[in-house]
Amino acid sequence: MSVSTDCIFCRIAAGQVPSRKVHEDDEVLAFHDIAPWAPVHFLIIPKVHIDSLASTTPEQHQALLGRMLALAPQLALAQGVTNGFRVVVNNGADGGQEVPHLHLHVIGGPRPWLRG
Ligand code: 5GP
Ligand code: ZN
Repeated sequence: MSVSTDCIFCRIAAGQVPSRKVHEDDEVLAFHDIAPWAPVHFLIIPKVHIDSLASTTPEQHQALLGRMLALAPQLALAQGVTNGFRVVVNNGADGGQEVPHLHLHVIGGPRPWLRG
């Protein structure tokens, strides 16, 4: 099963739920997080439904994961991030994952509450 109609990110990938897109290609979609933690906060997802990082295998997903990760700096720069950013992948219940469709958070821009 490649997409799930119950899954909010599958619905976003299918264009059934609107999002503010950052990037789209045949395998990957990136869009702004609806509740950003920082001035720049977008998510990179595979278009196919994969529950989480723990559901991936090197044999099946190495190229896709590489593509998602390699897009992060390029898209961050395109969003005006020039002073560093964070990539987060929450995984599973104890990892704080709320949406069960694999996604990378890319978080950048000034975050004064982390300084000092
Ligand atoms: P998680 O906790 O699963 O790693 O993060 C899920 C992220 O998805 C959260 O930061 C949340 O704000 C974001 N999110 C949840 N639903 C939607 C949505 O419908 N649209 C967008 N753009 N982001 C969403
Ligand atoms: Zn999904």
